[in-house]
Amino acid sequence: MNYAENILETIGNTPLVKLNTLTKELPCLVLSKYETFNPGNSVKDRMALQMINDAEADGRLQPGGTIIEGTSGNTGMGLALAAIVKGYKCIFVMADKQSKEKIDILRAVGAEVVVCPTNVDPKDPRSYYSVSKRLGEEIPNSWYVNQYDNPSNCKAHFLSTGPEIWEQTDGKITHFVVGVGTGGTISGVGSYLKMKNPNIKIWGIDTYGSVFKKYHETGIFDENEIYPYITEGIGEDILPKNVNFGVIDGFTKVTDKDAAIYTQKLSKEEGMFLGNSAGAAIKGVLQLKEHFTKDDVVVVLFHDHGSRYVGKMYNDSWMRERGFLEEEVKTAADLIKNHTEKPMVVVQTEELVSHAIERMRDFKISQIPVKDVDGFVGSIDESLLLHHFMNDKNISDRPIKEVMGKKYPIVKLNTKLEEVSKLINKDNQAVLVDLENGAHHIITKYDIISAI
Ligand code: PMP
Repeated sequence: MNYAENILETIGNTPLVKLNTLTKELPCLVLSKYETFNPGNSVKDRMALQMINDAEADGRLQPGGTIIEGTSGNTGMGLALAAIVKGYKCIFVMADKQSKEKIDILRAVGAEVVVCPTNVDPKDPRSYYSVSKRLGEEIPNSWYVNQYDNPSNCKAHFLSTGPEIWEQTDGKITHFVVGVGTGGTISGVGSYLKMKNPNIKIWGIDTYGSVFKKYHETGIFDENEIYPYITEGIGEDILPKNVNFGVIDGFTKVTDKDAAIYTQKLSKEEGMFLGNSAGAAIKGVLQLKEHFTKDDVVVVLFHDHGSRYVGKMYNDSWMRERGFLEEEVKTAADLIKNHTEKPMVVVQTEELVSHAIERMRDFKISQIPVKDVDGFVGSIDESLLLHHFMNDKNISDRPIKEVMGKKYPIVKLNTKLEEVSKLINKDNQAVLVDLENGAHHIITKYDIISAI
């Protein structure tokens, strides 16, 4: 019989898989270290187990203890699996920009999850760095993992991921490319490979909104480089101790849009259903094209699985809302594609202004078409309401028909974008589209600007 004693024994020894389609324009062999074969579906199982083993060995983690960590999901999964097998409790702290799937998945493996705001300074007491640290201090018999500065993170990759890649390529690897978050993967694999052959080049993938690339190139920690971004898993607004800049030859930054598009491309063109940082990593490999020659063997590491991103990079509405889909917008039909499933908000002539205000607030909209039994007869918008308010402070109790403005023009589904934009101006805030089934939808300035 051939079986593992428990799920933890299946961590590591993941396959190396050749890329065939997306890399056609490159002169070299490109292989992916395919980490979703780990039981928690990500590379992070390796370092999670290593961090727990090391903490048990030196007494930081005691029997029955509580494991506390700030995690974007994958480290949490690895820690949770190990905690189940070894008998610990887990509390994870996550930033609210992370996908809902990741939070649900951690709860599914028995962890408690605390969600914190994303766009606050790391030193802010609400940040996920501060909250996880505080919980670690307050909860008895707890251990705060701190994957950013915990040396066992990098060590796991030095001891397992690096040697596997070296052996699987028969020592022929010339370049290693990988997304950088805590820095554990790049630093551990990078140090091992450079120890075996100092000529191997190590490239990090960074995001716009993160400090790594500039810091590596200039030694300057530039706060201007920090701003919110969408790509998940890579980039930081801090310098984790696990990033060993000495083993990294360079960084390339990939945009949120490219990372999202290439996540979809990996799935649709290679059959590789992977997470968002894999999209960033493969786009980064393509950006580094001029560094590769015919005999090179490039290994790119793919961190995690696509299932955690089905509501995001694999969802066309989500992609379209962010302007990530390369679709041409030509007609009124294209402009309303995103909101046809939602009902159009209207007010009736006999309703009160307070009803219109309530609807504008609830649906976060700035204008509403007005209807009576014969169809559309007028409109209400913020500037019109403000204008009436100046003359009559009791405006909210007046019927809509007394204050409404002109009705919006109605266009056909195939009306050209240029004609629709000409109809929207200072005096006319929106256009209605006849859906040819008795219903209508609305196009606002916001829709035109998003399309541009
Ligand atoms: N991709 C994903 C999906 C991740 O969860 C992480 C970890 N934050 C990374 C990439 C970056 O890996 P590392 O932390 O080892 O630098």
